[in-house]
Amino acid sequence: MLATRRRDTPAETDLRRRLFAAGLRYRVDVAVGGVRSRADIAFPGPKVAVFVDGCFWHGCPEHGTWPKANSEWWRAKIEGNRRRDADATQQLRDAGWTVLRFWTHDDMKLAAETVMRAVRASKP
Ligand SMILES: [Zn+2]
Repeated sequence: MLATRRRDTPAETDLRRRLFAAGLRYRVDVAVGGVRSRADIAFPGPKVAVFVDGCFWHGCPEHGTWPKANSEWWRAKIEGNRRRDADATQQLRDAGWTVLRFWTHDDMKLAAETVMRAVRASKP
């Protein structure tokens, strides 16, 4: 669990595959809107940024666990991630982006539909 890579989670790969199959073209793991946080999937034209947050690293309310060993360190780490997530979302929204955040536990079929709707709605 702790060794899980933060990039290219199965959920993220699944979502990308669905979007690609639907004809959408996007950029992957890009810094968007000048913020430090990188969107997992970005549509620079319609300005839609998609994040697929790992349940552990981002403290999912359903599956987030707080490791007992080094609990202070983990708490600071995960809370730091959550704060950075919130900051990135706010900065992107201020810059006119539509920000969609999903958990890795979410149904990626539904997530793909939400992304497609947002991209189509934002087309200039
Ligand atoms: Zn979860």
